[in-house]
Amino acid sequence: MPDRGNQEIILRGIGGSPGICIGKAYLVDKEGVDVVPKYAIGKNKLAAEKNRFKAAVKKAIDELHKIILETPEALRENAQILETHTLLLKDKMLYGRTIETIEYEQINAEWALRKVVMAIKPLFDNMDDSYLKDRAEDVVNVSDRIMKHLIGAEEVRIGTIDKRVILVARDLSPAETSQIQLERIMGFVTDRGGRASHTSIIARSLEIPAVLGLEKATSTIRNDDIIVVDGISGCVVINPSEETLASAETRKSAYEERRARYARSGHLPAKTKDGLHMAVMGNIELPEEVVAVIDRGGDGIGLYRTEFQYMARKNFPSEEELFEHYKDVVDVMPDKPVTIRTLDINGDKAVAYASEPEENPVLGLRAIRYCLHKPEVFLTQLRAILRAAYYGQVRILLPMISRIEEIQETKRLLAQAVDSLKKDGLPHQKKLPIGVMIEVPSAAIMADSLAREIDFFSIGTNDLIQYTMAIDRGNRQVAYLYSPTAPAVLRLLKMVVTAGERNNIPVFMCGEMAGEGIYVPILLGLGIKELSTNPQSIPLIKNAIRLLNVDQTKKFVDKLLKLTTTEKIERLVENTYGDLLNNGHHNHGGH
Ligand code: PEP
Ligand code: MG
Repeated sequence: MPDRGNQEIILRGIGGSPGICIGKAYLVDKEGVDVVPKYAIGKNKLAAEKNRFKAAVKKAIDELHKIILETPEALRENAQILETHTLLLKDKMLYGRTIETIEYEQINAEWALRKVVMAIKPLFDNMDDSYLKDRAEDVVNVSDRIMKHLIGAEEVRIGTIDKRVILVARDLSPAETSQIQLERIMGFVTDRGGRASHTSIIARSLEIPAVLGLEKATSTIRNDDIIVVDGISGCVVINPSEETLASAETRKSAYEERRARYARSGHLPAKTKDGLHMAVMGNIELPEEVVAVIDRGGDGIGLYRTEFQYMARKNFPSEEELFEHYKDVVDVMPDKPVTIRTLDINGDKAVAYASEPEENPVLGLRAIRYCLHKPEVFLTQLRAILRAAYYGQVRILLPMISRIEEIQETKRLLAQAVDSLKKDGLPHQKKLPIGVMIEVPSAAIMADSLAREIDFFSIGTNDLIQYTMAIDRGNRQVAYLYSPTAPAVLRLLKMVVTAGERNNIPVFMCGEMAGEGIYVPILLGLGIKELSTNPQSIPLIKNAIRLLNVDQTKKFVDKLLKLTTTEKIERLVENTYGDLLNNGHHNHGGH
């Protein structure tokens, strides 16, 4: 890396979660090879450290054997190089010397390994024999393989960080992000990802600032660099000057002051100027978050994403475990709606033990498709939901519905779950409101027919935009196309609301569009009945509703629906409501 002195450097990305934080950078690297940690090992822990190294080597050998075994006969010749690697893994030079280095220098295995590789690589490099020269590559390759296992390549080990830092990573999966401990992690920045990715949704629910899609964060930022992360504008400043720091501090206090002001009014009902009351609910991923929803004045849970309970573990949770979690939420809100969405795994929320990797996960065996494919997994969850529903006001919500058969099939399984609970003599709710997410264009198009089968719709704009515009919601490159105000998206929303009205069922929204103050006039004017958003935005959304007049928003939406470009729509929204609703954290797309 070239020396860049102490110059201030600005990187621009996508504001994933609002707020500003200032602190030391901590690099985590999924591939785990570039950023090697170094720390001292106490005498009494040396044996354990050596064992940790041996275990990583064993895993690397097992992995290689598996690859060799799976290599087709015809390509066996190529696999020979891997045979060499398995031998190198146990080679005295690499294996023996790393163990000695841990012992004599009392340092961690990663650092010892790196040191040994640095010492032996030049020996090979300097040889004339091209065969031996190639061996230098092999040494690096096998040491990378060990390193990956030492650092824990599959999962970033966020749980082991023990200082207050800002995470810098190439990418964080939703499961990794959900393990962030708030006392340690002030915020995070990533090279990849977009605003509607689940990683960014979790950052918002944790209420920590995040900037995604920076592309060069991990290659530019170094461990312990002081950085300013501005999740509102999507900027990250490395080595900030005195002036930059002062202005960041000012903006930080202004943002926090504004949030506190909204929060104070969070418990007042959200009634428009002409007297329409609109429910504003909270989205949660974990039962603990229900407290945040109550604190912010939420009228219930509009979306409980249940898949997180299936992540970061080795096998499926039991009915009892699921029931306990759901009941925890219901017990805190016995008289308010709790909308439990059935398992939405795969897509960007893959669970290793549940299924095989897919080539196109976003278009794959995700959510309801997965559940209908694995009825025993689905039935376990349905039974847990029906049992928890006995104690409160539970609604059930089905994700990723793309055709009517999926609803019919689910209803059959629900009836089966009710029957089996009756037989088992367990308390449960026989009938509960069933809703479907409208997040696939085919469901929006068929909304009129789907409406006859169920009790409510909840529009998931995050996926609806993704699938309508054919853009990966987590991909930075196409983030500019990701807009809730794309004319195609608005027209689909209108279709869904009309279908709901015709069939007398309410239409709700739980996608991130419902959490942006500036879009509230559109949602009110369209006739959406209830909004659900990340808990921290509840006061802001309620505040926006109080400033508006439904009649005016209806006329405004009629005008919007005639426009044919996102730009014209955004401009009209901004010109009509920008001043009134200026909420200061409205940032889409890249730069
Ligand atoms: C959505 O797609 O808008 C939604 C709310 O579901 P998720 O973000 O969990 O995919
Ligand atoms: Mg979705």
